[in-house]
Amino acid sequence: MKQLFLSVILFLSSCGFVTPPPNAVDVGGIPITYKLEVMNKYAGYANFKGSYCQITLDPTDITSERNATVIIAHEYAHCVDWFKLKFSHNGFRNEGAIYGEYFARAQEGFAETYARMYIQKCGHSTAWFSPPAEYSFGTPCEGPDPSTVTPDKVTGGLNALNIYRPSPESQIR
Ligand SMILES: [Zn+2]
Repeated sequence: MKQLFLSVILFLSSCGFVTPPPNAVDVGGIPITYKLEVMNKYAGYANFKGSYCQITLDPTDITSERNATVIIAHEYAHCVDWFKLKFSHNGFRNEGAIYGEYFARAQEGFAETYARMYIQKCGHSTAWFSPPAEYSFGTPCEGPDPSTVTPDKVTGGLNALNIYRPSPESQIR
């Protein structure tokens, strides 16, 4: 049973400066790599690797275009937080609690709000994130400017979006 949707792990390379690997893709100015792995606990996972951001996806959780978009947009938002916002979460504190307890943490509130704003703008399209081909859907639609993803955007409208969650614990209440 996956109790939590996502996790944030800061993984700093012990080698200091590391160039992004050749398979990294540029998404909004951030080098991203994707890894597929069946995980017991998470549907998606973002790792900060210094010069790039690695997003791990659990294929067993990506059963629709909607699921793919929800998971990838949320993980990408963690990369945005690290690469564009110096892990400031753009001023979020606990506002994300409206989505569920897990999102009360500042970094999760930011990531989830980014993902919901992305879906509001782009629908269930993942092409802009350049994920592995089997998870690329729709046409590229640029994600929201990170600076616009602010705590005041956490409103009933975003909360009402029908967001997929892999476990009852993380369903929107
Ligand atoms: Zn998260």
